[in-house]
Amino acid sequence: MRVLVHQVLLRTARMRLAPTACRMSTIAAGQVVPSPGSPPPPTLQHPPGHDLEHDAERQQRARRILQQAVAATAPRNDWARDEISAIFYQPLMELAFQAAIVHRRFHNPAEVQLCTLMNIKTGGCTEDCSYCAQSTRYQKGTGLEAKRVESVESVLEAARIAKENGSTRFCMGAAWRDMRGRKNSLRNIKEMVSGVRAMGMEVCVTLGMINEEQAKELKEAGLTAYNHNVDTSREFYPSIISTRTYDERLKTLGHVRDAGISVCSGGILGLGETSEDRIGLLHTVATLPSHPESFPVNALIPIKGTPLGDRKPIEFTSMLRTIATARIIMPATIIRIAAGRKTMPEEQQALCFMAGANAVFTGEKMLTTECHGWDEDAAMFGRWGLEPMKSFQKSPVLAEGFTSQA
Ligand code: SF4
Repeated sequence: MRVLVHQVLLRTARMRLAPTACRMSTIAAGQVVPSPGSPPPPTLQHPPGHDLEHDAERQQRARRILQQAVAATAPRNDWARDEISAIFYQPLMELAFQAAIVHRRFHNPAEVQLCTLMNIKTGGCTEDCSYCAQSTRYQKGTGLEAKRVESVESVLEAARIAKENGSTRFCMGAAWRDMRGRKNSLRNIKEMVSGVRAMGMEVCVTLGMINEEQAKELKEAGLTAYNHNVDTSREFYPSIISTRTYDERLKTLGHVRDAGISVCSGGILGLGETSEDRIGLLHTVATLPSHPESFPVNALIPIKGTPLGDRKPIEFTSMLRTIATARIIMPATIIRIAAGRKTMPEEQQALCFMAGANAVFTGEKMLTTECHGWDEDAAMFGRWGLEPMKSFQKSPVLAEGFTSQA
């Protein structure tokens, strides 16, 4: 009986929603969200025992928020957390489908950016990020040996190989807390940045916290992007890292942005966070003064010897849901499938590309973990009709005249 009443209420809700859906039907250049005669949209899932009338209203509101977000022609950064939540909890297939529509409006859906990430300074980091093999605090358990900073020559050689194999962005990571007292290292890194840039590649670095001056120097050296992940929600963050605060991370992002460098900032899934924390992470980045140019979505690779070494892998559906929501709320951002891709079957990766992911790390290694190789990715791209994104040529957004290729 309860099920029957529920169905009647939902049918009524859909009928009330129908005129709005029709008005919203044509959103851009031949792209259609639910059109007259289409099957009704799937409904949000909810636990039993809810007030059914209230649930129907909630679903209508969520549907309205999704439709407005999907119809957008420009990014917005005034998202309320409950708006993101309304999008995030849509039925997954519907969410992925709507994200694909947005993706096609703001990007060429066939293009995927190929980046290679090199560790230019391995291990010996004083921070306590619970997931990281490079922290000195877990060195006994992980057995990872700290190394000196790589030479400029060896880094440029690695960049050359990456370019020859098709990568268009070269990222360099150093395992340390910040750049204080590292004048020599900064000088060498600037040389690496200029050298890679001279090869016609985009250059990104991840060096921990930096101040305004260091950001300006890196910009002058030709840096394209600076990676500094916020990792997770503000609320869950202290359970993962205690040696620097969420606000310190945001401050570094501010210095990067103010210097005119593109911000790359994302998160890690599978740390033990809840869906609400994933929404919190999305809310943080989607409400920055401007959206990150790049949003990496990492799946935790549990490393023995670290506090999170025994964590179960994140479910793929959580990964897909986060990527699809990110695509809808940050339509112009490049969304990167980062750590953990090695364990994803090709079909899962394809679903992520369909739902808005458009960048990967490729090459021999990704910091301390295994990575898909160039040949493997080239073969996959061939099978799915994907192609590498060219350097500095992300597809322009609709507002600048892009017409969908869908
Ligand atoms: S700051 Fe970076 S290198 Fe250092 S422990 Fe955290 S994640 Fe690892």
